[in-house]
Amino acid sequence: MTDQNPSHELESEVRSYSRAFPIVIKRAQGARLWTEGNEEYLDFLAGAGSLNYGHNNPLLKQSILDHLQSDGLVNGLDMASVAKNEFMETFQKHILEPRDLEYKMQFCGPTGTNAVEAALKLARKVKQRSGIISFTNGFHGMTLGSLAVTGNEYHKEDVYSGNTNVTFMPYDRYVDGVEDSSALLRKALEDTSSGTGLPAAVILETVQGEGGINVARSAWLRSVRKICDDFDILMIVDDIQMGCGRTGTFFSFEEADIKPDIVLLSKSIGAYGLPMSVVLMRPELDTWNPGQHNGTFRGNNLAFVAATRAINLYWRDNNFSGAIRKKSARIRDFLQQIARTYPEAEFEVRGRGLALGLESRNAPELANEFRQQCFHEKLIIETAGARDQVLKFLPPLTITESELEAGLRKAEKAISTVLASKRAGADKKIAGQA
Ligand code: PLP
Repeated sequence: MTDQNPSHELESEVRSYSRAFPIVIKRAQGARLWTEGNEEYLDFLAGAGSLNYGHNNPLLKQSILDHLQSDGLVNGLDMASVAKNEFMETFQKHILEPRDLEYKMQFCGPTGTNAVEAALKLARKVKQRSGIISFTNGFHGMTLGSLAVTGNEYHKEDVYSGNTNVTFMPYDRYVDGVEDSSALLRKALEDTSSGTGLPAAVILETVQGEGGINVARSAWLRSVRKICDDFDILMIVDDIQMGCGRTGTFFSFEEADIKPDIVLLSKSIGAYGLPMSVVLMRPELDTWNPGQHNGTFRGNNLAFVAATRAINLYWRDNNFSGAIRKKSARIRDFLQQIARTYPEAEFEVRGRGLALGLESRNAPELANEFRQQCFHEKLIIETAGARDQVLKFLPPLTITESELEAGLRKAEKAISTVLASKRAGADKKIAGQA
């Protein structure tokens, strides 16, 4: 049996992760994966942010097993259920109330893009305007509405005809030398001849995950919030990847001390890697008529059970946040040490919480080489950014210290192997020229 043949003639060419990581996985626990040949890998990808609490977290698993054992409802459409009620009440009590946030919850079809679609529709319905402002390098999903607000050219071809009245504005620090790119947004909205009509909403990530770990500063986020207030525009924060603790707080926008009108959660809200997708909206925005936006899989009760348990376990005090910050500082130190050791690569280290990125300013292709070499070292880690130019550290938030150290050792070995061979190549070239 080989571990090196992930492709399957029955699966579409569209598959991607299985190409980057050609193994066949059998088992997973915490931050570790085992192949069918029983080789062990460390996971710094965490289901692209859907496994913040690790694989098969035993504490969450037990609640799911108990629910199944008692013949608890599994798929409930959007019918009321004990599991859903418990989730909503727990979320209200331990997440929203302590943060002084007042939102109603809309459960959407299972994945992140479903929440994005619902939010865009709702904003347009509420404001009776079709325009949406999105930001450069934003990533919001693959269905047509979400794709329209996604920047990356690879995913959107004109023939899909999905670009319906979306205007892209520069994200924070997008333009070198421009201190506050939100001034352009304000100017475009003020100027009736700018070509940008008044939109229904802006949609943004506070840290762009797929876009390359681009961090918006709190001041920029506050400035966008103010612009939304001044022009009667809804602010949608897509917290699908950066929510549920990824940046160190439950919501990624807490540090900026803003209150978005609409917040989107998916990925890790289902806690166990189980699909779940939620739109949080200010109560007065809830103008839906019954069933006006629906979908079969809006009631994944196993996800509700796991989500409730996760909130009770991790979010009733600040200990978990503290632990995330500590691990974040450790990875940041590690990356900064790499940057100091290899000045020739002109590395930039950025990110927040346990979403950290390493990018070489003069050799963007290095990230892919690092990823491949990390895989050789049995570390699963992805790249991000328009040119896959950022090595993206996204381990489970629950990763143990020893797993984290083991992962960093693998990353260090991989990075130094790649860079040492570059140095040797450069030395040879110089010797040849001499
Ligand atoms: N929004 C953000 C910020 C994401 O990172 C993603 C996926 O990576 C999505 C939306 C889309 O979520 P899904 O792939 O579950 O549809």
